[in-house]
Amino acid sequence: MILKKCLKGSCGAKVYVKKAKLKLHGTQEDSLWAKWVNVVKLKGKSIWQVQMENSDTWFDKWSSIGSLDRVVNRRDKYQARLSDDLKVAQIIQNNSWIWHDEWKIKYPSLFSINVHVLQDNEDDVCWLSNDGSISRYQTSKAWVNLRENKPKVSWYHVIWFKQATPKHAFVLWLVIQNRLVTQDKLQKWYPNLQLKCVLCDLEVDSHKHLFYSCAYSSAIWGMVNRKLLFKGLPNDLQRIMVMLSGYPYSKNIWNVINRIVIAAMVYYVWQERNYRIFKGRKRSELELKGIIEQFVRFKLLTLKVKGSQAVEKAAKMWELSWVNLKFQVSNGQSLL
Ligand SMILES: [Zn+2]
Repeated sequence: MILKKCLKGSCGAKVYVKKAKLKLHGTQEDSLWAKWVNVVKLKGKSIWQVQMENSDTWFDKWSSIGSLDRVVNRRDKYQARLSDDLKVAQIIQNNSWIWHDEWKIKYPSLFSINVHVLQDNEDDVCWLSNDGSISRYQTSKAWVNLRENKPKVSWYHVIWFKQATPKHAFVLWLVIQNRLVTQDKLQKWYPNLQLKCVLCDLEVDSHKHLFYSCAYSSAIWGMVNRKLLFKGLPNDLQRIMVMLSGYPYSKNIWNVINRIVIAAMVYYVWQERNYRIFKGRKRSELELKGIIEQFVRFKLLTLKVKGSQAVEKAAKMWELSWVNLKFQVSNGQSLL
């Protein structure tokens, strides 16, 4: 039979069956839902005995009008002596549907469905996308359909780009959205707490303070940004992000270095703050600046580059040389 069972969200039979299997192995074996799946979907059979080639007339989304259970009411099904477990193959006779003639007026949409050609092939499980297209199931397609769609933010390419380091990008993403648990937030929950930034010991830490009005991070930023060709970067992360967001994404080496350095700065400053609070470890501004620079140099070594003045300048500024489309450590130097 040429027939496609289409799954939308988690409404398809296969998905139900898989979920039931998971639930039945979990702690909710007695839940009403698990019982319902056992009775209605599995019908007392082992999950391994459930065949996909028999599409349910009423519950599977095999037609252009969706699940027929939502179209035809139970009383009419009962009076027409059409059972709940009727298969699609059973409602086609002599190349036409077996619906009663009086249903033409009551359920005209049933008669708008094209009659399927029955063959001996097995049914195929497909994915019905939000845009109405039908294709083979892929997790990536399901994710795109199920996720909440929001417009792109202007700063996404400053954080997410091919050469980005995921853990750095993640922390920067949290910072941009004001999601880190900083002391100013803690004080709102615990007003009697006496807190001070562990980096400068001057005031309560906050996103604005840590990146980079804090004397500690400001000193590091002042040292690190000398190695950026990009002149005129403000001493404030929010303004830096606004500025970089205005530049179109490109593979220009300095565009990449700017992004790598900013994400690394944010990551290591946040790490240092947490080390001091939770591990009692302390690194000086100079030490942290060295760690950030070391990281950036290692990162640059992994890049494939094309020969250009910009690349030569970058190699010189970061004390690397470049040969055969790769950055290399300059002679006599060590990164360790
Ligand atoms: Zn501070």
